[in-house]
Amino acid sequence: MKIFIATKNQKKLTELSRILVPMGFEVLSQKDFSEEFPEPIEDGTTFEENAIIKAKDGLKNTGLISVADDSGICVDYLDGAPGIYSARYSGEHGDDESNNQKLLSELDGVPLEKRTARYVAAIACVFPDGKQFTVRGECEGKIGFEPKGNNGFGYDPYFISELGVMAELTAEQKDSISHRGKALELFKEELKKYINTDEE
Ligand code: IMP
Repeated sequence: MKIFIATKNQKKLTELSRILVPMGFEVLSQKDFSEEFPEPIEDGTTFEENAIIKAKDGLKNTGLISVADDSGICVDYLDGAPGIYSARYSGEHGDDESNNQKLLSELDGVPLEKRTARYVAAIACVFPDGKQFTVRGECEGKIGFEPKGNNGFGYDPYFISELGVMAELTAEQKDSISHRGKALELFKEELKKYINTDEE
């Protein structure tokens, strides 16, 4: 059975393929199509809505079962900001350095115990017959004061997880506690309910 992953992010593609290929899916992505699909407008108000928008766009473009994800960081002191706007918090899309600087300045003077936050990841799957589902994974932590570590991406140098600063963890350690790792586990279990698979 073919399945389309609606992301241009190679890391997300790899993570999702790791789950879907052993389940018997033939995984397709943008690079398997000659025409360039335009980016959909992510105007949802939640991670789930934006993941569904991207997955539905994939279904519209390919006619295949389509999967997409959306993620970000929610800081309690900032009433959940930057949330769905995490990638473009400082204006420019995906500029980790300036996003982190903005986050730090918004939290200027706020003590550690009030800097609680969580990473959130939603994964959506839509089917040609109209069925759809979403799953959500979360990872609790606090926003530190100084950057630490060289691994990961985005807000990881400042995110203090239960295992330590996210950017100091190995990929395996991060996967074991991360929002995306948890969402991927739930996604696999949920998808099994929608398809016939013998895979464990
Ligand atoms: P998107 O899901 O590709 O739209 O990315 C959302 C944004 O949330 C990223 O650009 C990062 O700023 C942030 N983000 C999501 N997941 C993580 C993570 O695991 N570590 C650090 N930042 C993340």
